[in-house]
Amino acid sequence: MQYTSTRNNIVKITAAQAILRGLAPDGGLYVPEKIKSPDISEQQLLRLSQTELTARVLHALIDDLDLETLERAVKDGYRGKFENDDNLTPLVKCGKDYVLELYRGPTSAFKDMALCLLPRLIAASAEKCGAERDTMILTATSGDTGKAALAGFAGAPKTKVIVFYPDGGVSDIQRLQMVTQQGDNVCVCAVRGNFDDAQTGVKRAFGELKCDGFSLSSANSINIGRLAPQVAYYFKAYADLVKAGEIKYGDLINFVVPTGNFGNILAGYIAKKMGLPIGKFVCASNRNDVLTQFLSTGVYDKRRPFYLTASPSMDILVSSNLERLIYFASGGDTHLVASLMADLNEKGFYKVPGAVLSEIKNDFLCGSADDEECFKTIKKTFDENHYLIDPHTSVAFAVLTKVRGNLTGKTVILSTASAYKFAPAMLKAFGIDSVSDGFAAMEKLNELTGVPIPKNLALLREMEILHKDIINPDEITEYVERKAKSWEK
Ligand SMILES: *Cc1c(COP(=O)(O)O)cnc(C)c1O
Repeated sequence: MQYTSTRNNIVKITAAQAILRGLAPDGGLYVPEKIKSPDISEQQLLRLSQTELTARVLHALIDDLDLETLERAVKDGYRGKFENDDNLTPLVKCGKDYVLELYRGPTSAFKDMALCLLPRLIAASAEKCGAERDTMILTATSGDTGKAALAGFAGAPKTKVIVFYPDGGVSDIQRLQMVTQQGDNVCVCAVRGNFDDAQTGVKRAFGELKCDGFSLSSANSINIGRLAPQVAYYFKAYADLVKAGEIKYGDLINFVVPTGNFGNILAGYIAKKMGLPIGKFVCASNRNDVLTQFLSTGVYDKRRPFYLTASPSMDILVSSNLERLIYFASGGDTHLVASLMADLNEKGFYKVPGAVLSEIKNDFLCGSADDEECFKTIKKTFDENHYLIDPHTSVAFAVLTKVRGNLTGKTVILSTASAYKFAPAMLKAFGIDSVSDGFAAMEKLNELTGVPIPKNLALLREMEILHKDIINPDEITEYVERKAKSWEK
């Protein structure tokens, strides 16, 4: 099985090489030329543990790592970090729909599903490819990715991670989540400036760095090793519905996904291409509705205002993984993808051919919801079903009500974060406006709803602050070199 670049089909590499490289040299993303079905029979789908199921789905996408290696990676990556080792991603009924809870991991965000596994996949790929150096991950974060990367990489063999965050630019809770992170192979540093300053500094460091002891990579990059673990939970959700007697094996189901960078929903599309019986995907956006516009008109136009919303992880103008969808929907037309991406870069927009748009519309519905709709939906869902959803998940719920008439079969909503990660915004939904401190907001929300605060967030208050460094953006390269030297010893 070979991977190629979305922008150049001359490129042919293995999955393990794609994981190590992250991004193709031409700026494209790595994609499998052909998507294979996983080796899972109907009986196995219903009987296998989540670990075994995940390993088999991974093996269909990363076929040059053997099944035993992948199973060990999955076991070691997730074990002891989730609320329930045997059921990492519970499926719960809410009204007439189902919610797939992807946030029961170490940082209470769905990014844990990918970032707990990525370091193990990198280490296994490095061994497979005979890479001798350890991998050092450098990441700038505006909040959620940084902590999920730290928790995922802490203690992982042959990998180090350094996370840079903007000083004063993340929430109280997000900062505490990062600076209390334990582990000999992790490092966190504040940067004076905003997220762009930190990100630019990290990108510059990639160019300037001379550290021979490590090969450099990023947890931000659109690595196939970040996508593959997300494909697996679509299979798990399907199996749970069959086991619960809610559907028969073979029935089509729909998924509603709160979308930002288009990674989560694309993983579902890959699951469908692998043969999982899926009807439609609903792509839900907040007020930054560039994807809704694209999926309705075929025009992707990033020349538009950027809004800060109550669902910050979906505040985005360029959804990188859409490039992979266009590759698949155009039948692997890398010339087309390359020219569209050049248009985006040079003119700020592109338009896909009509045939590609109708291909996409076979699989995708879309819609958007603003903050007011989001808050109303949080309150309504709690009042009617006594079920608490975070602002990102609420956008998905709100969009579902708008498109429901176009769906047949059962529908699963992907829930991407614990409500407690966004406690001040949640309180607004319940009509309370004036809680300043993150912990006070969590306690108030707990009082109002009775829903338990996730342990990892409640414990933050007592954790020791381990990372106190703060530097200027132009000191990032030197900082990394110093850190690399201390790790080499
Ligand atoms: C990252 C994130 C999303 C968006 O997921 P994509 O894969 O980028 O589309 C949605 N919700 C939350 C809570 C997130 O952290």
